[in-house]
Amino acid sequence: MSDLKSAIDELVIANRILAAEKVCDAFGHVSIRHPNDPKKFLLSRGRAPELIEAADIMQFHLDGTAADGKGKPYLERFIHGAIYELRPEVQAVVHSHSYSVVPFSVIGEPLRPIMHVCATIGAEIPVWDPQDNFGDTDLLVADIDQGRDLAKALGTRTSVLMRGHGSTVAGGSLREAVYAAVMLEVNAQLQLKAQAMGAVKFLTPGEIEKIRARQNKGRPGEGFDRAWQYWLRHAGFPTDE
Ligand SMILES: [Zn+2]
Repeated sequence: MSDLKSAIDELVIANRILAAEKVCDAFGHVSIRHPNDPKKFLLSRGRAPELIEAADIMQFHLDGTAADGKGKPYLERFIHGAIYELRPEVQAVVHSHSYSVVPFSVIGEPLRPIMHVCATIGAEIPVWDPQDNFGDTDLLVADIDQGRDLAKALGTRTSVLMRGHGSTVAGGSLREAVYAAVMLEVNAQLQLKAQAMGAVKFLTPGEIEKIRARQNKGRPGEGFDRAWQYWLRHAGFPTDE
């Protein structure tokens, strides 16, 4: 029970951080796999992330049906369930419409890591286009079939863009997923600037692998952990170290 309470508390903080860092605005959401039941995940009821409190957190089965909690769920909860279903190692998922990322979902020019702290977003970032398998839609992931199609496009990667819509990132921990979601937006801002100036030399796959290996060691005070402490303060919480 205490695992669940601390997971819910961390998830509330993650929502506030994503709002403070402007990855989420009125829209976007973050989930974590249930700490005691891998066949469920925790996600707020449909609400702007900046407003979310512990009482808003609901529990869902991986097919997106509600298992516990009250309120109207997010329409796009299927994004989360489908990724947890396909990727047993994934512990957290962030979906957002952060604005600098969206141009890369429509121009055929890939978003790629341009700066060392952004390596976590992954060497290859595909674009999922619902037009391919579902024809004209409202572009939202409105059922589990669309969620599974998106999860398939993500594959074993960290990030996937969604045409004319936004992006989704998956992490081995909540802190990693939040970090990747923030850095996806940062990288997009930098890449838009750099490409306006000329040809870009991106990080190589080997550089990306080395940076990620270092970050994944998860030493306290480094990497995801140091960023989390900074973002905690930015979002108005005391640091926890
Ligand atoms: Zn969306």
